[in-house]
Amino acid sequence: MALVVQKFGGSSVADAASIQRVAKRIADTHEAGNDVVVVVSAMGDMTDDLIDLATKVTPDPPAREMDILLTAGERISMALLAMAVNEAGVEAHAYTGQQAGLLTDDKYGKASILGIVPERILRTIQSGAVAIVAGFQGVNSRNDVTTLGRGGSDTTAVAFAAALHADVCEIYTDVDGVFSADPRIVPAARQLKVMTYEETLELAAHGAKVLHLRAVEFARKFNVPLHVRSSFSDKEGTWIVSDNFSEQQAMEAPIVSGVAHDRSQAKISVVGVPDVPGSAAKIFAIVGAADGNIDMIVQNTSLSNPGISNISFTVPQSQLHSVVQALEAQQASLGFKEIQISESIGILSIVGAGMRSHSGVSARLFKTLADQGLNIDMISTSEIRISVVLEPESLEEAARAVHTAFGLDSESEAVVYGGTGR
Ligand code: ASP
Ligand code: MG
Repeated sequence: MALVVQKFGGSSVADAASIQRVAKRIADTHEAGNDVVVVVSAMGDMTDDLIDLATKVTPDPPAREMDILLTAGERISMALLAMAVNEAGVEAHAYTGQQAGLLTDDKYGKASILGIVPERILRTIQSGAVAIVAGFQGVNSRNDVTTLGRGGSDTTAVAFAAALHADVCEIYTDVDGVFSADPRIVPAARQLKVMTYEETLELAAHGAKVLHLRAVEFARKFNVPLHVRSSFSDKEGTWIVSDNFSEQQAMEAPIVSGVAHDRSQAKISVVGVPDVPGSAAKIFAIVGAADGNIDMIVQNTSLSNPGISNISFTVPQSQLHSVVQALEAQQASLGFKEIQISESIGILSIVGAGMRSHSGVSARLFKTLADQGLNIDMISTSEIRISVVLEPESLEEAARAVHTAFGLDSESEAVVYGGTGR
């Protein structure tokens, strides 16, 4: 007998029939002798629809009220799912984030989890019933509801799995697992059997719609095994586990596990910066104060123009204007000549734990792009990732070529059941 946390995304509970299908799976898991805690997202696109509705009422909805509105989505799905599980013959009770004991800080719309007091959920499963918890929501110290940011139900699920010491956290979605690339762009993408927390974090942080980033961070911190799988089939999905590879296993690990692409970033170049100590420190202090999340940075000093350097970096498109404004406001004290921006860039990343023990990976990546006639604008690396900035128009072609070059192509086409991959 195990304790299983099951999380169902919006596409798995999009309508009454889907809710009944999911309820049957929950009941079966319970009847197989497991304790089951379920975390559920809002039905289908309900969260998007509620946001649209709010912005029709006012262009600038107050954050506290926005959270009250959005948490309603998960209240609906949790209640209906509990009804359907009861109908399937297993006792089930639904709980809001607050009732389930999920405590957060005060940041409406992007709250962080401070702790979980899981007593009520524990009592429910100890009584033999299934506990169904609304995803993506919690309560702050003022007793107001908060949300964890878009896609936050994954984090709710992993947080409960950690707090309850669950044996596994199953993340049900509308694809068969985690793929080596987005199957909508790379049709030869293959489903991964197993990947490490680190690889998943790198992929999720670089545009792959795998899991909510904080969910993976939680899973890594508390060593919660994740099983990402389809709610539309019984196939084994993708296991996400810790990297305690032996040296031998590390040598045999695939060099590259996945290819991610990201169109959500923009590039800012600060041109003509005095090449003196402290220039970069000042620039990035200003970017930080404007809440800019930087991914890549490149600085170059031209030989023909000594004493002057250019610093380019990437930020999410949504932060572009506030960061540029903040820098321009300090132009006199920073002493740069001008700011150039690219509103849309493409970032291609390859990720693999096997990179640690293999050489020549970057050469192979750059050669593949060169063979396609694609120009690289910026490069950044981590121990297990290489990212390049490309023209956004060439991103898909590049992803397919790189996927092939690293031997990732599968013979069969990936099944996409429709929906969003959540
Ligand atoms: N319903 C929320 C969203 O769409 C949370 C989630 O689905 O994880 O972002
Ligand atoms: Mg959703």
